[in-house]
Amino acid sequence: PRMRIDVVTIFPDYLAPLGLSLPGKAQESGLLQVAVHDLRQWTTDRHRTVDDTPYGGGAGMVMRPEPWGEALDHCLDRGPNPAGGAVLVVPTPSGERFTQRVAEELAAEQHLVFACGRYEGIDQRVLDDAADRGPVREISLGDYVLNGGEVAALAVIEAVVRLLPGFMGNPASLVEESHSDGLLEYPTYTKPQVWRGREVPEVLRSGDHARIASWRHEQARARTAVRRPDLLPAVHALSVEGLGALE
Ligand code: SAM
Repeated sequence: PRMRIDVVTIFPDYLAPLGLSLPGKAQESGLLQVAVHDLRQWTTDRHRTVDDTPYGGGAGMVMRPEPWGEALDHCLDRGPNPAGGAVLVVPTPSGERFTQRVAEELAAEQHLVFACGRYEGIDQRVLDDAADRGPVREISLGDYVLNGGEVAALAVIEAVVRLLPGFMGNPASLVEESHSDGLLEYPTYTKPQVWRGREVPEVLRSGDHARIASWRHEQARARTAVRRPDLLPAVHALSVEGLGALE
């Protein structure tokens, strides 16, 4: 396969959607190989314990390092490249923000291993130990707190897998979408021409490709200025004459 993905979690069922839709299709086509592992298989006590109280006190529990160490030893060696080369991805609200650029960087890799935390997270030494052996990316989905890393891993995997060459039916659709050119995408329409009294903009039915392109660009720029001015270079954010075009 072009890419191998291992996911370690205490809730393997959470990752069931990987068999559906985009990642499912990629696995069928042989582009992608995914394995989901139950962290508890690397516990040694009768209760299959994965957590304990935090040193220094405080609320909540922390994931113990021993099962994680065993799990990552196992997964990091599983990739297509025997010399290593796996990237460890750790979802955490204190990581770097996940963006399309990060998705593109991860899509260039051959082997990703996801460590899904729960409770108050994973003992820091697990990450330090992994970082001595290879690249570690701590990634945040956004400035909010989820209960576990599973949903974040699903989001990252879906964004990465659709970038794998040969995966999308029409690679051109990757070029035009939101964030690929630094702007949000323009509004899109399909048939029928009139729906509930609302008509598709005339320009899109004109057949004039230059006019269509410039209308779309203007819509994308205006939309970005209103909704996400932080994405625009400062000089563009100041010129707001395109705003009337929205709505
Ligand atoms: N006490 C931790 C903190 O404030 O950083 C929050 C732990 S959270 C309840 C449990 C797990 O959910 C984290 O270890 C991480 O795997 C995942 N998680 C929570 N929010 C996330 C986010 N915004 N992005 C990625 N993963 C997140």
